[in-house]
Amino acid sequence: MHEVPPSYAGKILRVDLSAGKAATEPLPRALVKQWLGGKGIGTYLLYNELKQYIDPLGPDNKLIFATGPATGTVLPHKGYIVCYKSPLTGIYASSSSGGSFGDELKRAGFDVLIVNERARKPVYLWIDDERAEIRNAEHLWGRDALETNDIIKEELGDVEIKVARIGIAGERLVKFASILNDYSRMAGRCGPGAVMGSKNLKAIAVRGTNPIEVAKIDELIEFMRGLLETVKETPSTGTAYPMWGTPGGVNVANLQGVFPTRYWHKGVLQGFEKINAETMRRRIVIKDKACYTCPVNCSKIVRVKQGPYVGSVLEGPDYETLYTLGGLPENNDLEAIVKAHELCDSLGMDAMTAGNAVAFAMDCYDRGIISSKDTDGVELTFGNKEGLIQMIEKIGRRTGFGNVLAEGVRAAARIIGRGAETLAVHVKGLEPAGYDPRGLKGVALAFAVADRGACHLTGSIYTYEMRGDIDRLAYEGKAAHLKELEERFAICDTMIFCRFMRDVYDLKTLTKATELLVGFRLNERKLRLIGEKTINLARAFNVREGISRKDDTWPERFFKEPLPDGASKGQVIDKSRFAKMLNEYYRLRGWGENGIPSKEKLGELGLNYGSQHLETP
Ligand code: SF4
Repeated sequence: MHEVPPSYAGKILRVDLSAGKAATEPLPRALVKQWLGGKGIGTYLLYNELKQYIDPLGPDNKLIFATGPATGTVLPHKGYIVCYKSPLTGIYASSSSGGSFGDELKRAGFDVLIVNERARKPVYLWIDDERAEIRNAEHLWGRDALETNDIIKEELGDVEIKVARIGIAGERLVKFASILNDYSRMAGRCGPGAVMGSKNLKAIAVRGTNPIEVAKIDELIEFMRGLLETVKETPSTGTAYPMWGTPGGVNVANLQGVFPTRYWHKGVLQGFEKINAETMRRRIVIKDKACYTCPVNCSKIVRVKQGPYVGSVLEGPDYETLYTLGGLPENNDLEAIVKAHELCDSLGMDAMTAGNAVAFAMDCYDRGIISSKDTDGVELTFGNKEGLIQMIEKIGRRTGFGNVLAEGVRAAARIIGRGAETLAVHVKGLEPAGYDPRGLKGVALAFAVADRGACHLTGSIYTYEMRGDIDRLAYEGKAAHLKELEERFAICDTMIFCRFMRDVYDLKTLTKATELLVGFRLNERKLRLIGEKTINLARAFNVREGISRKDDTWPERFFKEPLPDGASKGQVIDKSRFAKMLNEYYRLRGWGENGIPSKEKLGELGLNYGSQHLETP
């Protein structure tokens, strides 16, 4: 008899690092019914267990690793999501990762792992089928993220175990350090690796051998057959992602003039063909790869075969690193991008923020705000690929000027001063993904309101704008479209389905899949409501931290500085039309004109005005 519905392991593992203790507790059935899993349960626990204004790098922050009903099952899915307060942005954060770490955790008996407090000396956590043990990791401190994986596997005598771990960037509290799992899959954005480093937790190793039961296995297998057919027949999942992966977007973005270049001053990279997906496949791709049970194979394993970076191996680069290590620093050397990305992986940090930080410094350098005296002698000119690589190494180790950029673009601009703040590009402290909002008006709205800052994943409206499903330059109708997408993708993050399957997992398919996994009756409206509530709860967390309308915007230069070339030439974000879009979005969300969820919306979450400091700041 299941305490919780099928497809759940049924337990939470709580680890208190200062006490050196791990304890299990049942996963409450009510929690599952209300929030399903993944981002839903993670956000609920984060909101309720974190006090307002805690230091993200202090012992009171928590890392809440949450799996979903799809994790560990035969349905194509991602891995896990980790929720925490971000040291980069100071607000809500959730970062998801593919690979098999989440599956292993769930098969070890845990739907959720909560880590809090701080160990006195470096440790790692070893979870072996429901048993958890905290082990000394002093010998691992100072090791990079890739070798740490190998050492722990050898130490535990099993190459099949899964290890989530940090690199040197996490140990040195680089604000955008990430957590790696499998070879180099990452919970990448917003700095979960720094939180792990602040707790002196080097790694979490897991072995899980328990099968995951689902509610209706025969029907699920039948459903899977149909789903796999749809995956094959759908252009994105059947052809584009398997062949090109996300780098397939490089051509489209450049042809539309929205590929962020020269630190957000241009929308077209000269010679972008040298770093596009076709060139990648011809020169460096050695293997296609997929997450556990996924037939899409969107990931590419590459190896540099000649030149100064020969031997560099990587799972990537993806679209986002091609933009951030290629477009932003005006670097069209594909092998140098691979080297820079590989370095980010081994140091254990988010290449998206790292590339933004270096390109921001190049912009400052170009304008005489900083000189080589500030940058330890490194000539930070646009196009200097060696300068890019050197500065990434410095960031990950927090040496010299790297120590400034390790704080992220917003904080680095404040430290540098002398007008650097007018150049800095971020929303709520998070550097944007690679889609220029001046040529994609839905992106302008989506990144402004996303729960963790300038995030492309909460709404993914860029896909629909860039492939022409909706008019990319129109403002009208974008708020409603974004709301629908955000709710669907919040469900994906709650179930731990991958959003790259967005053309396959419509709301009807998501509902059917969920019912077959968990066994209780759902309908599209109820499922969508769980997505909506998750979004509102993340917003409530942020409002409690002081976020409101004033923060749902872009740096001033996006309203004033037109894109200079390409198909989006002359485009800016029109301030009044942006404000109208924002008003419409707030109205549809029920957030009030200052972006604060209404009494009714808070009531749905079990929160009240006046409690939890949710009044307008
Ligand atoms: S589409 Fe790609 S990222 Fe998503 S689950 Fe499949 S292989 Fe993993």
